[in-house]
Amino acid sequence: MEAIESRKLPYNVPGKYYTTDLCDGCAYCAAVAPENFDFEKSTNTYFVAHQPRDLEEEEFIQEAMDDCPVDAIRAIEALQPQAEV
Ligand code: SF4
Repeated sequence: MEAIESRKLPYNVPGKYYTTDLCDGCAYCAAVAPENFDFEKSTNTYFVAHQPRDLEEEEFIQEAMDDCPVDAIRAIEALQPQAEV
């Protein structure tokens, strides 16, 4: 658990969900949850740009997390989704 958290990409906004350097830039997550994922050109990776703002967005993020081909999307289970500051 700690090891994977150390691979968290720096662009992720703080909160429950994040992507790691396992991301290969396939863009699947951004197709499933376009309001929540964004692209970083310099590393060809996607990151969590917005934590879920409602249950629908959380479901989309969870779908992306379940189906990410390289298991790059993670959640800190102890954290509840939080509104953006
Ligand atoms: S689905 Fe996974 S591998 Fe594909 S862009 Fe998103 S985080 Fe990266």
